[in-house]
Amino acid sequence: MSLSDRIEGLRTRIQRACAAAHRDPSSVELLPVSKKQPLSLIREAAGMGFTRFGENYVQEGADKAAAAPDLAFVLLGPLQRNKTKPALQHFVEIQSLDRPELAERLRRHAEELDVVRPVWIQVDLWDEASKLGGCPEGDLPALITAIGRDPRLPLRGLMALPPPENVSAFAQMAHLRERLQQDLGQPLHLSMGMSGDLEAAIAAGSDQIRIGTAFFGERVY
Ligand SMILES: *Cc1c(COP(=O)(O)O)cnc(C)c1O
Repeated sequence: MSLSDRIEGLRTRIQRACAAAHRDPSSVELLPVSKKQPLSLIREAAGMGFTRFGENYVQEGADKAAAAPDLAFVLLGPLQRNKTKPALQHFVEIQSLDRPELAERLRRHAEELDVVRPVWIQVDLWDEASKLGGCPEGDLPALITAIGRDPRLPLRGLMALPPPENVSAFAQMAHLRERLQQDLGQPLHLSMGMSGDLEAAIAAGSDQIRIGTAFFGERVY
């Protein structure tokens, strides 16, 4: 299947899911996830109007960003403390912020580098942090305090990677979003839903779906 066929198929899935949920399809951002995909394929997608791509590994994303300075890369994968500076240098946005220590380092380096980088809190409500990263619910207040409404790290929303078999996970995220929006007095976006479960995520109110294999095809490891 060609890239344009896959994208066409995805557009149909998104439209159907939005129709079923009485949502406007333009309210759902499709973020292509290009980890382990060659730059040539990313270029092809860019030719079809996509300008932002999700990447999981700081080094891989940095290499792609250097080779394609006209495109923007979003960091989705676990961030190690010693990679906060290159993450800020090569990514336009960081979605995997999950602990206060990272927030503190990001703030310090963002000031040094004189950059603004929107951040998303990666949430783990399912006790999977050891595998995939993510901030447990009880640790959210400390993390939010550490971000501290720093204008260099504007908080865009919540990102989650729920276990695929957990049917109530997206609804849990939607409730958490509601509660935090009230507490913080600001809008928060939800980034959830991948190739296999974008319909359920859209039904629960996701604002951004992150699509790898259904967009680019199988990854080459
Ligand atoms: C790989 C990945 C995706 C995309 O997964 P697919 O199942 O290939 O669509 C989305 N989000 C994150 C954080 C990922 O690591």
